[in-house]
Amino acid sequence: MPEPILQKLTNHIYWMPPAPPDRPSLCAVVGERFTLMLDAASSDAHARLFLDQLAQNGIASPRLIALTHWHWDHVFGAAEIGVPIIAHRLTAQELAIQAAYEWTDSTLDQRVLDGLEIAFCADNIKLELPEPRNVRIPLPNILLDDTLDIDLGGVTCHLRHVGGDHAADSVVAYIPEDRLLFLGDSLYDAVYTPVRHYTTARLFPLLNKLLAFEAQLYIEGHTDKMLTRAEIEAIAAKMRLAGDLIAELGTDEAAILAAARLRTGAEPDEDMTYFVKGLIAGI
Ligand SMILES: [Zn+2]
Repeated sequence: MPEPILQKLTNHIYWMPPAPPDRPSLCAVVGERFTLMLDAASSDAHARLFLDQLAQNGIASPRLIALTHWHWDHVFGAAEIGVPIIAHRLTAQELAIQAAYEWTDSTLDQRVLDGLEIAFCADNIKLELPEPRNVRIPLPNILLDDTLDIDLGGVTCHLRHVGGDHAADSVVAYIPEDRLLFLGDSLYDAVYTPVRHYTTARLFPLLNKLLAFEAQLYIEGHTDKMLTRAEIEAIAAKMRLAGDLIAELGTDEAAILAAARLRTGAEPDEDMTYFVKGLIAGI
């Protein structure tokens, strides 16, 4: 498994990019008083890799974790970090359910059959944590409903609940001193569903909330490059255009893409096509 390398992004923020099988972005926000970890890694091994690379860079280990949402790949390393966890109230509720499960291959397979788990996650859990696996899911210690601000000393982190299609509990972390927004998986589509999809009812309010931050840099959960404001605005514009055209013209994908071509004067790219398909699937 290739090991991602910790990168210094800004004055206070270090980023470990996503990696196979489904390891998400992790960040350390480093203040004068303490370090905050954004998301908690997929496993003990992933958590240990992050802690080791912090140590190699002379950075203090995290004293707090903030979770973006309840999905396993963002959570299963939390016990190895071993510090208090901040999470949304809905995240805590879902983690209490997850913590009561058994995590053998056979119980995972059964949950997929029962519709309680998706094959994509079960497959990646088996890759990240081969049997015999010991899954430890600590419950969050500090809960937020809407917002929570953390003063790390010389730098602050504003946690905001934004919701969206991917997970109702999605929280983003904004570091105003560095104008960076840690998005978690909030901009991705709904995955815990028979068909991956977006809905304009959840997506459009989410876009408004995300673009209201005066961020210039954006880190996503499973995107291996940092995004600029212009790139996020371009993604949002495609999502909005896809939603608007479907509202005007209905669910004929070819007609929507033809209208998008006319409206923008450009061939719809892979992203535009994905958003159109996803929003049609969500109707
Ligand atoms: Zn997720």
